[in-house]
Amino acid sequence: MRLAVFDDFRIGLVEEDELRDVTDVLEWLGIDAPGPHRMTALIAELDAILPGLVDRAKQAPTVKVVDVHLRPVVPAPRHVLAAPKNYRTHAEEMRGPVGTGDGTVLDLGFFLKANGSLSGPNDPIELPPLPDREFHHEAEVAFVIGKEARAVSRDRALDYVAGYTMLVDVTMRNSETRREERVMRKSFYTFAPLGPYLLTADEVPDPVTLELRLSVNGVERQHGTLGDLIVDVPGLIQHASSVLPLQPGDVFATGTPAGVGPIVPGDHVTFEVDGIGTMDLPVVRRSW
Ligand code: MN
Repeated sequence: MRLAVFDDFRIGLVEEDELRDVTDVLEWLGIDAPGPHRMTALIAELDAILPGLVDRAKQAPTVKVVDVHLRPVVPAPRHVLAAPKNYRTHAEEMRGPVGTGDGTVLDLGFFLKANGSLSGPNDPIELPPLPDREFHHEAEVAFVIGKEARAVSRDRALDYVAGYTMLVDVTMRNSETRREERVMRKSFYTFAPLGPYLLTADEVPDPVTLELRLSVNGVERQHGTLGDLIVDVPGLIQHASSVLPLQPGDVFATGTPAGVGPIVPGDHVTFEVDGIGTMDLPVVRRSW
């Protein structure tokens, strides 16, 4: 099953190019959290209500995906975690004048992106007016936590995953003279497009098969699979859940393969993962 959040935080089941609007069904099933938190509440109860949801969804109205505004597929997670340098190919390409000296995910663990940087999967990436700085795309598969995970072992870790989605970890690179905090450089508004859909974990027996491709202006720049990760999904959960309890709805971006590069206003980013969906992201200059 693939889930979407659209318009006024309504929830849809994806059926090809349509969404079955199950917002009212969910309310009937007891998922009555306020709009931005509705998806998190659904994720926390997903296993319990799935049979009822599937059954009653057949009567729910449909809307065409092209006629709605897709929101970040988890609009209000408690945490947005991310793995630094989790593909060898990307770690190698970063050993230049930019990013020198810091190690991989094995040394660094995880970082956070501000929740306020989240945006929808077709919303523009808004670059701030800093003409001497470089902004890069980082295409990443993300997983979403389904139940509280505290000191979880590797072999149980995938039981805590509700599903998989996609996140572009847009990043302002360090410059020759400026080395701001990583969290700030990755937390400008719209620097975390999230979606378009959440593919539930029951359809992903092993996440190593998930394969991502990102293009800019029709030219492919990034391609990789989760089989290439230095620390795999169970390893990321094991480590992060030993630091703090992960919560239902928490988003964890797994890292980016080689091929990161600059984006500028006027560019068009396309990001696809087979089985999950496609993001279409115009790049614009921020207007505020
Ligand atoms: Mn990243």
